[in-house]
Amino acid sequence: MALDELYQEIILDHHKRPRFKGKILNADAATTLFNPLCGDQVQIELRSDGKTVSEIAHDGQGCSISQASASMMSEICKGKPIEEVRELIEIFGKMMKGTATEEEQERLGDAESLKGVQRFAARIKCAMLSWEACDQCIKKLPEGAPAENDSQES
Ligand code: ZN
Repeated sequence: MALDELYQEIILDHHKRPRFKGKILNADAATTLFNPLCGDQVQIELRSDGKTVSEIAHDGQGCSISQASASMMSEICKGKPIEEVRELIEIFGKMMKGTATEEEQERLGDAESLKGVQRFAARIKCAMLSWEACDQCIKKLPEGAPAENDSQES
């Protein structure tokens, strides 16, 4: 099976059987974003103890790319430290610009299968929607502000 076909399979699978779709009780942050160009709507809810994203869920409707991306994002971010989730969001954004390294892309799990979307400018927003919503959720958390001693940049 060609790699492109394999990626198509993964995207279709997430679209047909979305992971972590729905709502969560007592969410600490929620954001709904729209992509009017395509008609996508994605709502992200998450719970956090201040260190990790303990629960995450997505809801909404739209094209297969937007919905599959929300499922993949939820799957890879659930249970991860907030700092790591922030990194994954950044890597996904870089992948859409074609500037992420192979090593970085591998950290995205199934979401790596969306890298082909970078060739279709009109669909990038579809793929980015849930990651942007997650980013906004994290910023709404009291603990989501970047730490003072954040010196990871090299
Ligand atoms: Zn779309």
